[in-house]
Amino acid sequence: MPATSATALVIGGGIIGRTCALALQRRGWTVTLVDHDATGNAASWGNAGHIATEQIEPLASLATLRSAPGNLHIFGGPLDLREPWRHLPWIGAWLRACAPARFESGRNALRCLLAGALPAWRRLASSLGDPGLLQEHGHWMCWESPASTGRGRESWTTKDIGNARAFDLSADELAQLHESAPAARIQGGIGFDGTAQISDPALLAKRLASRFAEYGGTLLRATVRRLDREGRRVHVVTSTGEVFDADQIVVCAGVASRPLMESIGVHAPLIAERGYHLQWTQHGWPEIPPVVFEDRSIIVTRFSGGLRVAGCVEYARPDAPPDPGKWARLARHASELALPVQGQPSRWFGARPTLPDYLPALGCCKQFDNLAYAFGHQHLGLTLAAISGELVADACSQRDVAISLAPFDLRRFS
Ligand SMILES: Cc1cc2nc3c(=O)[nH]c(=O)nc-3n(C[C@H](O)[C@H](O)[C@H](O)COP(=O)(O)OP(=O)(O)OC[C@H]3O[C@@H](n4cnc5c(N)ncnc54)[C@H](O)[C@@H]3O)c2cc1C
Repeated sequence: MPATSATALVIGGGIIGRTCALALQRRGWTVTLVDHDATGNAASWGNAGHIATEQIEPLASLATLRSAPGNLHIFGGPLDLREPWRHLPWIGAWLRACAPARFESGRNALRCLLAGALPAWRRLASSLGDPGLLQEHGHWMCWESPASTGRGRESWTTKDIGNARAFDLSADELAQLHESAPAARIQGGIGFDGTAQISDPALLAKRLASRFAEYGGTLLRATVRRLDREGRRVHVVTSTGEVFDADQIVVCAGVASRPLMESIGVHAPLIAERGYHLQWTQHGWPEIPPVVFEDRSIIVTRFSGGLRVAGCVEYARPDAPPDPGKWARLARHASELALPVQGQPSRWFGARPTLPDYLPALGCCKQFDNLAYAFGHQHLGLTLAAISGELVADACSQRDVAISLAPFDLRRFS
């Protein structure tokens, strides 16, 4: 590491905060990471582990709008809007972002970002000394009716999927799927190249933490209550009243970034788009790539620590209690598919931090001299973690930034 006296304080030790912290360290910063979660419960570690480079199209789109009624939880689907009146301003902003011109520019922006996602993950995994963390075996997707097979195949083989490539699963691969989910009436499936998975989220968290410590980073277990402004500078105030200053502060607190940014008058219209998972330690699922059962809107991922079934899109207050109905829905799918699992699964829920246009917020905050941000990664936080860290660290270090961060500037909401 180049020696430097410049200090950075990163708020949030999820995957985005961790990758920003490491990238800053590699550029010579002395980094403190503040996080209050000692349990590893954040979305960063409960997700499906999929490096989803194929998801070029922002979910702020007319297609999402059209499919929303049929996907509602009350009809057995994955989508639930709890306390809808709370989310009306966000929904209004989302509808505006669905306009074809906004969608198109969002797609271009995501395409640029996603093009760098997998190369950045390779660099990250090898710098962590564990290239095997990244498993580049793509992912599979299958359908259980002839109609959905036709629609799904047509959609995924014709739409823009960036650097990923879709292909028909071979007879052997389909046979493996039939064996893995014997009760599923699988009618067709495709595979993707150029996508990947993380071998295990808990192992990833461990590797990131060790490397951060080896590079001389300081982990502070504290809750950041607010940011304070003093002219063009920002300080961090914790819940115990301690005040921290740094040459660079980077807000990466997931959905909790909203109140932090708003404490200094910066609008960050994040919403908690919550998801759920069940995970079985004991299972007989083979070593195949993650499988999306698209008709059921679930993804099944084999990690080294167990088999995880993840899904659900629940718009709710970040601190609202979990809805056991969502776990019941996942359990019903697992049982209907006859997944080879034994024993009681562990249950988890967590929040995707989502902005109305389904693009992240990345870059330096122009109103202040020492503030940057990286949050709002919605369904793609794991996928975009390594590239986000590199880009934000370059911007903070006044280096050339590989792509324009203009589409990810928070001022788009002001
Ligand atoms: C069910 C599900 C499946 C998903 N699957 C995938 C997938 O397959 N691929 C993919 O790319 N993405 C996936 N995602 C999305 C991905 O998990 C998120 O985009 C990502 O975790 C966001 O990371 P983050 O670091 O911004 O936020 P978080 O993971 O929420 O981390 C924020 C951190 O900040 C800390 N923090 C918050 N407030 C404070 C404060 N005031 N003071 C101190 N610390 C604070 C928290 O403790 C936490 O550790 C999935 C999400 C869900 C819910």
